[in-house]
Amino acid sequence: STVLLTGANGFIAATILRKLLERGHTVVGTVRSESKATFLREQFKAAVDSDKLKFAVVDDITAPGAFDEVLRAYQFDAVLHTSSPFRYNITDIDEELLQPAIQGTTGILDSVNRVAPSVKRVVVTSSFASVVNRTKGTWPGKVYTEADWNPTTREEGLKDVGSGYYASKTLAEQAAWDFVKEKNPRFTLTTLCPPMVYGPPEQEVPSMVKLNVSNLDIYDIFNGASDPRYGVWVWIDVRDLAEAHVLAWCDAAIAANQRYIVSQGNFSPQMFVDYIWKHYPERAAAKGINKHSPGKYYSDEGIYGVDTSKSVKDLGMKYTPIEDMLRDTLKRFEDLEAEGK
Ligand code: NDP
Repeated sequence: STVLLTGANGFIAATILRKLLERGHTVVGTVRSESKATFLREQFKAAVDSDKLKFAVVDDITAPGAFDEVLRAYQFDAVLHTSSPFRYNITDIDEELLQPAIQGTTGILDSVNRVAPSVKRVVVTSSFASVVNRTKGTWPGKVYTEADWNPTTREEGLKDVGSGYYASKTLAEQAAWDFVKEKNPRFTLTTLCPPMVYGPPEQEVPSMVKLNVSNLDIYDIFNGASDPRYGVWVWIDVRDLAEAHVLAWCDAAIAANQRYIVSQGNFSPQMFVDYIWKHYPERAAAKGINKHSPGKYYSDEGIYGVDTSKSVKDLGMKYTPIEDMLRDTLKRFEDLEAEGK
């Protein structure tokens, strides 16, 4: 099959890319500038040489018809839309977060519908941000399902960058479902709602401070640079999320017009601290990593959970335990440090 992967140079997308190529698919990845493909061209040289991997530059995903040209250039079977801003150094929430998330999503759906009749499925990387109700905090006893929607509004999203990110993902996913309802397109849609995504970075890491936002949560602890950052209490391994992106269009007709929470389950950043002290005691001591409260992961009242049974039943998802993720991720961090990053 031939697949369009948007934002191919991102953390999650680079892992999806590896998985697609391993399965023998042909991939066209979009990037915002040619230089952002350089690392991936080297990393996946064999695929580039055999024409299994190509790149296309789409510099502004909010421009009307931004994806028309690349969609016309190949006979795609599926589109995986991952590109969306996930960062907090933002000055204009509307322009830098909301518009690219929302218009990027509706834009690609519209382009597929108009110019790419061969595409049968579009998979959108949404987020648990579009599921969770942040005003409820830790909400002990609550179990989130695909029926839950973040009630945030555009106005609330404009208040601060954190709210802006949550609103960007919520409004983008809602816009995607509205598009399907209103336009009744030829293709079917699947949205995936992962919470915190962690795992060995496959993307280019020019320096450790430029790691993607979620992995920086782990690295900043590992490097003694920051205390654990609390906020979201559920997570998924990036390799499992990549698998979900493949299963959502390859093996699963059942995923047509479905939304999935994909997650291994609950975690606490205290687990990162405990793991590092257990497996890297010398480094932890040298970096002065605060032990906080070993073994105490959640408050006594408890914490919300997620029901992932739909992803298991429909997609056959299996979820990697957090210790395996930490083992592989910290190993990769050490390798990157050794390379001088
Ligand atoms: P990365 O920052 O590593 O990748 C983001 C990708 O989106 C990059 O290719 C980036 O391109 C592109 N992008 C960002 N802003 C824009 C923009 N304004 N216009 C066009 N492209 C843009 O993040 P992740 O891989 O972590 O995130 C990928 C997707 O997964 C996002 O949709 C994110 O919301 C979602 N997600 C991530 C989670 C996580 O914990 N990591 C959790 C839940 C959902 P460039 O390099 O040029 O900036």
